[in-house]
Amino acid sequence: MEVRDGVVLAIHGGAGTILRERMTPELDREYRTALAGALLAGHQVLAAGGRAEEAVVAAIRPLEDSPLFNAGRGAVLNDDGAVELDASIMLGSSGMAGAVAGVTRVRHPIEAAVRVMTETEHVLLAGPGADRFIAQQGLELAEPEWFVSPHRELQLRQLQAEDVSQVAPEGPGSGHKFGTVGCVALDIAGHLAAGTSTGGMARKAWGRVGDSPVIGAGTWAADETCAVSCTGHGEFFIRKAIAHQIHARMLHGGAGIEEAARGAVLEDLPDGGGSGGCVALDARGRFVAPFTTPGMYRGWIDARGQVTVRIHGDER
Ligand code: ASP
Repeated sequence: MEVRDGVVLAIHGGAGTILRERMTPELDREYRTALAGALLAGHQVLAAGGRAEEAVVAAIRPLEDSPLFNAGRGAVLNDDGAVELDASIMLGSSGMAGAVAGVTRVRHPIEAAVRVMTETEHVLLAGPGADRFIAQQGLELAEPEWFVSPHRELQLRQLQAEDVSQVAPEGPGSGHKFGTVGCVALDIAGHLAAGTSTGGMARKAWGRVGDSPVIGAGTWAADETCAVSCTGHGEFFIRKAIAHQIHARMLHGGAGIEEAARGAVLEDLPDGGGSGGCVALDARGRFVAPFTTPGMYRGWIDARGQVTVRIHGDER
């Protein structure tokens, strides 16, 4: 498990079986460039004195626009061949949070999550009602075709032909499924924020909602403990309240972030049959990135703008 100090912002781009033999040098470069670009976008906000949640949005937006990741454009398809996007955000300073589930038209679902937090008295809006809210808010929309990439269509056809239900990180076809994106950030005022955005699981049932928009499962932030964004097989993260569990181990159990993240992600999650990972950051800039899978797209940046990007589990 990676442990670093002095981190101000970190991201993940999904956890799973990232096979070196399937990764061409060009693709490897594309992933690393995209992750570094997102880190720098978030860092720019923090360096200018921006708030943690603004940095989270700035880092997630380009990842939602990249077809490489399972969020926004390039999201996985459900069993009907449609995208249903989930996203959430939470502030460590106030505990305020916002989320959307199963939305279909907004270009940047993370912005929709922010609007739910700032413009409504609710935490989570889902389905057609959430799409209506997004349109009323005047957020940028995209045509359904904009989200759908050829490799996701191929993936769905393969899963349907093999009659494989929604794909877990380690399951067949998993080579195509990674890419939920998430970010944790610490601003100059010492406040934390976390955000997560995803298309969910490939060939998921229509209406299925995973952990990413569920506060406490896929996303959590509290200044006194940590900010967390998760990725992996969402049902298991919901059952184990993984993001909140890391916070609770710190708050009630007196654990440091390292011990708390190890206990939740590397012990309790697999105990329940789940797999995946997270990025977690405390208010002193201590950062951990545990995952049970062979790889997780991830990166972090310090206050001076020093970028680190990793993909495989054995990279040091
Ligand atoms: N956690 C996401 C979900 O279950 C998927 C992922 O992280 O790959 O919807």
